[in-house]
Amino acid sequence: MPQAAPGRLQHLLQSQVPLRDFTTWRVGGPAEWFAEPADLAELQALCAWARAEGLVQRSLGAGSNLLIADQGLPGLTLCLRRLQGSQLDGSSGLVQAQAGEPLPSLARKAARGGLGGLEWAVGIPGTVGGAVVMNAGAQGGCIADCLETVQLLDPQQPYQLLELDARELAFAYRHSRLQVEDWIVVAARFRLQSGLDPAAVSARTSANLHGRTSTQPYQQPSCGSVFRNPEPHKAGQLIEALGLKGRQIGGAQVSPLHANFIVNVGDATATDILSLIALVQDQVLHGHGLALQPEVKRLGF
Ligand SMILES: Cc1cc2nc3c(=O)[nH]c(=O)nc-3n(C[C@H](O)[C@H](O)[C@H](O)COP(=O)(O)OP(=O)(O)OC[C@H]3O[C@@H](n4cnc5c(N)ncnc54)[C@H](O)[C@@H]3O)c2cc1C
Repeated sequence: MPQAAPGRLQHLLQSQVPLRDFTTWRVGGPAEWFAEPADLAELQALCAWARAEGLVQRSLGAGSNLLIADQGLPGLTLCLRRLQGSQLDGSSGLVQAQAGEPLPSLARKAARGGLGGLEWAVGIPGTVGGAVVMNAGAQGGCIADCLETVQLLDPQQPYQLLELDARELAFAYRHSRLQVEDWIVVAARFRLQSGLDPAAVSARTSANLHGRTSTQPYQQPSCGSVFRNPEPHKAGQLIEALGLKGRQIGGAQVSPLHANFIVNVGDATATDILSLIALVQDQVLHGHGLALQPEVKRLGF
């Protein structure tokens, strides 16, 4: 068992915190230790404490692409959504954003400043950190298109900040090198297209949001698209063609509105969701001869 946290961390650390409250699927057991640092100094002190105690560390943004096990997570779980803030330079197009900045607000701020390149991001309910890790994207755009550098913290050496060029991060479709490293994204710098008409960028941004809310189950707990699209196919169309819309296991249901979404219609457990994912994969393999790969990240399994 870890020692009691030092005095200056006691007000930050909580134990046995239900992680369902920190994921958009509303699923997940308790974190052994949990904290939401409000600034870099708090984050560094928490990482140093966990390292000294030999605890496993994990980072969450908005929890909008995560399936967390019902038995919860050992060690320290850090939620970074309080690390908010951004600076946008209307003339150069440079944007510096903290890891916890919500992606929709960054897209709106960019639009109001006449900066183009994040119009697609307005409907993605994640943070900048999670979006960089996932190389989030929609409507033909993705994070890697406008990312310049990422500021990172290595939990093993928490007092040394690293800055990596986007070209060093092996971005691909919903993939980055950050998915296989233990680093924590602290901030990111983007270069957007400057000098555009704010009204026109805002109109494109709003149109993107409207297009999504009318075709996806935004009002129900989900993690967005569960499966990666097996190009050139769309996972949702493959699933829908097999008549799987509405299929339910426990509280987990293939959305009747969009077949690549699994929604929590009651008290879904992670086990319900995993069982439904396996059922869909099995049917798509037999029905279409294609192996669907989950886009959602699993923690604690
Ligand atoms: C309704 C809905 C619609 C969606 N639509 C889209 C879409 O169109 N396109 C798309 O790409 N995604 C979509 N998503 C999925 C999700 O919003 C994105 O993947 C988003 O980028 C995840 O960000 P997050 O902050 O929630 O990350 P989390 O879900 O909290 O974490 C995702 C991964 O990143 C890691 N991580 C998070 N923050 C950090 C950090 N600061 N440092 C290190 N690691 C970190 C986590 O450990 C985890 O492995 C949708 C989700 C929902 C619920």
